[in-house]
Amino acid sequence: MAKASRMTKQKRLILEILRGTRVHPTADWVYQQARQVIPDISLGTVYRNLRLLCEAGEIMELSFGSTFSRFDGNPLNHYHFVCRQCGRIYDLDLPLREELEEEVRRAGYEVEHHRLEFYGRCPECARGAGNP
Ligand code: ZN
Ligand code: MN
Repeated sequence: MAKASRMTKQKRLILEILRGTRVHPTADWVYQQARQVIPDISLGTVYRNLRLLCEAGEIMELSFGSTFSRFDGNPLNHYHFVCRQCGRIYDLDLPLREELEEEVRRAGYEVEHHRLEFYGRCPECARGAGNP
């Protein structure tokens, strides 16, 4: 029983950390933040709870091919901009393009969902103010 409530506390903390940031962090970043509140939390526990939160639809995992995943406290579909220069991932204030799914369905595919990311340089880096 004590173990179960502890798990819940850890999961709640991880969710709070993700909902409280817009940086789309890595699991390791979440781990570093969580340790400041629960010093003996393990990286494995962070990974496990991130996976459980994803499965429960509370958060979203943004996987980028073979590189590590980033996590998003907003589980509702929205679009991102990935800056190639500074590595930051931004939320884009764009309406969802549901019609894209319709077009793909018309071609005979059963669509579950779609993800859309744009790549390039963010405004800060384009101004020369970003990290090198
Ligand atoms: Zn940038
Ligand atoms: Mn996002």
